[in-house]
Amino acid sequence: MTPTVIIIGGGLSGLTAARQLQADGIDFLLLEATERIGGRVKTDVVDSFRLDYGFQVLLTAYPEAKRWLDYNELNLQTFLPGALLLYPDGTKDRIGDPFRDPGSFFPTLFSNAGGLIDKLRILQLKFRLSKMSIAEIFEQKEVSTKEILAREYGFSPKMIERFFAPFYSGIFLEKKLATSRRMFDFVFKMFGEGQTAVPNLGMEEIPKQLAQGLPKEAILTGAKVNRIDRQTVTLSDGSNFSAPHIIVATEAIGLVKEFASVNIEYQSTIHLHFITDKPPINLPLIALNTFPKRISNNICTISNVAKGYAPDGQHLVSISIVGPVNIPTSDLIKQVRKELELWFGKEVQDWQHFHTRKIHYALPDQRKVQNKILGHQLKIRDGLYACGDFLLNGSINASMRTGRQVAELVSQEVVGLINNRS
Ligand SMILES: Cc1cc2nc3c(=O)[nH]c(=O)nc-3n(C[C@H](O)[C@H](O)[C@H](O)COP(=O)(O)OP(=O)(O)OC[C@H]3O[C@@H](n4cnc5c(N)ncnc54)[C@H](O)[C@@H]3O)c2cc1C
Repeated sequence: MTPTVIIIGGGLSGLTAARQLQADGIDFLLLEATERIGGRVKTDVVDSFRLDYGFQVLLTAYPEAKRWLDYNELNLQTFLPGALLLYPDGTKDRIGDPFRDPGSFFPTLFSNAGGLIDKLRILQLKFRLSKMSIAEIFEQKEVSTKEILAREYGFSPKMIERFFAPFYSGIFLEKKLATSRRMFDFVFKMFGEGQTAVPNLGMEEIPKQLAQGLPKEAILTGAKVNRIDRQTVTLSDGSNFSAPHIIVATEAIGLVKEFASVNIEYQSTIHLHFITDKPPINLPLIALNTFPKRISNNICTISNVAKGYAPDGQHLVSISIVGPVNIPTSDLIKQVRKELELWFGKEVQDWQHFHTRKIHYALPDQRKVQNKILGHQLKIRDGLYACGDFLLNGSINASMRTGRQVAELVSQEVVGLINNRS
C-alpha cells in the first residue's frame, strides 16, 4: 500500500517526525540506511560495555526532549554540575554549582580556575540567562562565543583558558570557540536549568524510546535511498516506494544536500574508550584537560555516572578528542596515555584500550544558528520536505524540534488536501 508520507532517515529528527505523524493519524514509512535506528545517537554493546557514538549527554531542560521523552523510563543517571579541572602543572581541582551541589562550595571557592570575580560572574550569567527566553537568546546578534566571554561577560583569560575553552570545545567540537554566542548562551542556560544525564543503558535508549509504539512494519532498516524522482524513492537494492509526501531527514552532507541549499560544514571528533578496574575519576564528573595544546579534551569514568555502561567490577573511561587528528590511532593512544599520566599516574599505562571511533560528521558547523525554522527550509518543494539538526543547531533538542515541525507542516497539508477533496 502507498504510504501517505515517506521519511528518509531514522535519526532523532526522522523518528520525532514519525511520532508526530502518528499522533496526527497519518500513516508513514520510515526508511533507514543502516541496520538500526538512532542516527548519531547510538550505543554499541561490546562484551557488556556500552559505547556511545561519541561522548553525548542529554540536558534534561531541553524543551523538546521534555515533550517527547519519558525521563523516568530512560532511567537517567546524572553528572554533578561543573567539572574537574586538570592543570598543566599536574594539579587538579573542581568547580561546581554550590546551589545544586552543596559539596562543591569550598572546592569551587578555592579552585584555581579563576578569581572570585570570575566565580561570581558565573552566577551572574546564570541569573541573566534564567531571565531570558530561548527565543530571546537566539534573537541576539550573532557573534562568536570567544568574543563575548571576555568582552561582554568579563571573564578573565585564566578562567576562559582553564574552564570555558575546554568545556565548550568539548560541546561544540571545535577549539576556536567560533561557535555562535547564541549556542553558548542556550547551552549554558540548559546546563543551569536542568541536569546533565545519560540513560543507564546508554544514549541509544533515547531513539529506542521514540520508536517504541511506532508500528514495526512502518520502519524499514537497511534501506538506503539512492534517488528521489518526484514522489518516488529508489533504494540501493533497486526497489521503489512512492508517496505524495517525502521528508528527507538525513544529515546535512547526506541526500538532503542534493535538493536543498544547506550548511554542509561540520565538526569532527574522536572518541576513545579504555577499560580499567580502578576508576581514574570516582565522582560522576567530567574532567577537562586545560593544556592549551591538549590532545584529549574531556575525560570521564562513564561507568561511575551510569553503572549500566560496564560489567560489575570494571570501569569504562570515555575520552573525547576535538576535531580530526591526522595521526595513526596507535600514536594517538600513546599520546593520550602520556598526557593523562600527569594527573592519573603510571596506572594509565595499564588501562586497556578498548575502542576508538572516528566521527567524521559529528555536528553541523554552528557559527550561525537559529531557533526559528523558516517555512522554505522545511518545505523544499511541493511534496518534498526536510528536517534535521542542521536547520537549527547541533543538538538533540533541535533535531527533535525540526522533526516535529516538519511533520506538523505535512499534517496540515495532508488535512488541507483531504478537506479540499471532500
Ligand atoms: C559526537 C557527538 C556528540 C554530540 N553531543 C551531543 C550532546 O552532548 N548533546 C546534544 O544535545 N547533542 C549532541 N550531539 C548532536 C546530536 O546527536 C544530533 O544533533 C542529533 O542526533 C541529530 O539527529 P538527526 O536526526 O538530525 O540526524 P542523524 O542522527 O544524522 O540522522 C540521520 C539519519 O539518516 C540516515 N540516512 C542518511 N542517508 C540516508 C539515505 N540515503 N537513506 C536512508 N537513510 C539515510 C542516517 O543513517 C541516520 O540514521 C552530538 C553528536 C555527536 C555525533
